[in-house]
Amino acid sequence: MPSIKSVRGVRDILPAEAERWQRVEDAARRTFEAYGYEEIRVPLFERTELFARGIGDETDIVKKEMYTFDDRSGESLTLRPEATASLMRAYIEHGLHVLPKPVKIYTMGPMFRYERPQAGRYRQFHQLDVEALGEPHPAVDAEVIAMLLDFFGALGLAERLDLHLNSIGDPGTRKAYVSDLVRYLKPHEAQLCAQCRERLARNPLRVLDCKVPECQALIDKAPSILDTLSPDAGRHFLSVKADLDAMGIPYTVNPRLVRGLDYYVRTTFEVKTKDLGAQDAVAGGGRYDGLIEELGGSADPGIGFAVGIERVVLLLGQGDGQGGERRHPQVCLIPLGDAALKRLLPVARAARRAGLRVELGYGTRKLPKELERANRLGSPLAAIVGDDELGAGEAVLRDLKSGEQRRIPLARLVEELRSLSAARAR
Ligand code: AMP
Repeated sequence: MPSIKSVRGVRDILPAEAERWQRVEDAARRTFEAYGYEEIRVPLFERTELFARGIGDETDIVKKEMYTFDDRSGESLTLRPEATASLMRAYIEHGLHVLPKPVKIYTMGPMFRYERPQAGRYRQFHQLDVEALGEPHPAVDAEVIAMLLDFFGALGLAERLDLHLNSIGDPGTRKAYVSDLVRYLKPHEAQLCAQCRERLARNPLRVLDCKVPECQALIDKAPSILDTLSPDAGRHFLSVKADLDAMGIPYTVNPRLVRGLDYYVRTTFEVKTKDLGAQDAVAGGGRYDGLIEELGGSADPGIGFAVGIERVVLLLGQGDGQGGERRHPQVCLIPLGDAALKRLLPVARAARRAGLRVELGYGTRKLPKELERANRLGSPLAAIVGDDELGAGEAVLRDLKSGEQRRIPLARLVEELRSLSAARAR
């Protein structure tokens, strides 16, 4: 019978990699909570209309990347391609706007986009998502960015990342800028890549972040969106930069940094790395004043970001230069026979309840096999109980590195293992 393989563009996170995922999630929780963010969990699928309205009908995501299907009642549903629209829906639906502002929330989990899979780009991928809602002050922008960088700092990645910053202004001036941009690009249309020719008609701003060299040459000479900011948006941007300066956070102003979703206004930012080839964006975000209203809620402004967890995990993997670390047991309990197993089952449970990582044999294998297994699992210690030891109420405690061993009363085993493991951890 042929085996069934996973779907193209999705991947399993195997135990050898899971430790790095947990490190990322732990660093996120610790950092976000220090800034007063609380976790929120939202469904993996929503009404299709939410994304069409929230992300923008003309964006690549809505036009060609969504996993959309009719459920059995004929309702059109979509697997979430990003989290912000769902979070805004929840904010509106549960009246979270009555909470003290800014309302600070984060979530983490899988997103789904039908993109061309390659290294660092998947069809099911995972994001950390953070949103601060209801506060227009530019210091919030700076604080959100500082938090993002602190998260990377907690993982030891700060040195390998660069912060890119831009302002794309307010909807009115942006519209005027887009017309300028189209006017500039139109005469050169033939020199643009096929995708940019299409973007020119549908979503001209996106031409700015095309990576094709011929397009780059044209984009270099394009008018800058920063020259078109309204006085308010200009002041906002100056203030964000000054606040970042005050915190000693370096950044590169990149007037070509527009983002793939329609809802952004004013501040946009991305964190990039030179270590992942073409998929160089590790996180991105920006301000989206107006989105909550667009989705039928209050006029509350918002700002947030999303981190691509796969890319962070890839960076962490390059850092330690190995396939990942496993958590080793602290001891293997080895009963030789069924009577010894019965005696060790409660001991194993007591040791585990005391917080130790314990492996237990089942009394069916010979000692050399059990020791081989303990070594493969990377356990530093084994406690062996055969008939002789059982009769004496003892175990043989063996240091698996040095081979040294001694006998110890079973009644004291858990306590002894705890103090040995504590000593090892120091
Ligand atoms: P976006 O929601 O498009 O702003 O993306 C935010 C972050 O999610 C990006 O900077 C990437 O790190 C990550 N990301 C986006 N799309 C994918 C994908 N298809 N596969 C893996 N990571 C992704």
